[in-house]
Amino acid sequence: MAMVEAAYRHHHLHWRYINCEVPPEGLGDAVRGAKAMGWVGFNCSLPHKVAVIPYLDGLGESARVIGAVNTVVRRDDLWIGENTDGKGFVEAISEITKPAGKKLVIFGAGGAARAVAVEMALAGALEVIIVNRSRERRDILVDLLGSRTPVMATGHNWENTYQIPADTDIVINTTSIGLYPNVHERLDIDFNTLRRGMVVADAIPNPPRTHLLGEAAARGCVTLDGLQMLVNQGVIAIKYWSGVDVDKRVMRDELNKVLVSQA
Ligand code: NDP
Repeated sequence: MAMVEAAYRHHHLHWRYINCEVPPEGLGDAVRGAKAMGWVGFNCSLPHKVAVIPYLDGLGESARVIGAVNTVVRRDDLWIGENTDGKGFVEAISEITKPAGKKLVIFGAGGAARAVAVEMALAGALEVIIVNRSRERRDILVDLLGSRTPVMATGHNWENTYQIPADTDIVINTTSIGLYPNVHERLDIDFNTLRRGMVVADAIPNPPRTHLLGEAAARGCVTLDGLQMLVNQGVIAIKYWSGVDVDKRVMRDELNKVLVSQA
């Protein structure tokens, strides 16, 4: 990914970050091959985030709770699976407000929701309402949060226009509603229930300025876009692999260039 290589160049790391298409039946060979070739680690995306776990030697704390891995790190010759999706989010939101003691509303119950909700819970969030269309995924996530983290978790069946409770501190969209190219799709929320002082975050990185963030900014909320979550994931992964704290601005600028060229 261009963003990671931009950081390597900027910090004089003579490394490469290459994309490899790995079919599901080749995953074990790919992991063994990465080890044989002396890689320091790798990222993996769908459909490998869960399937990779049997090929690893251990998991970090949140990857164990989330049950999915997006970053693999070689530590003392062992492959350890981490999940930086939610960590990237927590790092980004912590620059605006501390998660500890906060009341959250999260839209969505897929992979991004699971990672964000677990990390926010482990960071001390007090309460979370999971608002999702399909009941099954919502219940699985609520049960996971209730049994494996200290947060108070409840679910809401998203059948009608959602009214955000007035005492909500942080609103987070982890659905794919509005993701490029479907930029005109809108969350079914009463946007007038977004209040000044709430923090409103969207995991969607493209476009960075989603309709939710536009509605929130117009009502005086503080907003956070999905680009920062993505940049932070890269920052955390490079720190795991190299020990270097990379300059976030270099990565964000590169990501902006890529998005502009795709638009
Ligand atoms: P999943 O497919 O696992 O989950 C998608 C979620 O969106 C589900 O909760 C689904 O609900 C909900 N959803 C989709 N369409 C609709 C709709 N029309 N109405 C109501 N709910 C809907 O995807 P991920 O969790 O992996 O990704 C979700 C988003 O997060 C994507 O936009 C992705 O780009 C973003 N993301 C951003 C990252 C970043 O670093 N910024 C990292 C990872 C993801 P249901 O269960 O009912 O189907």
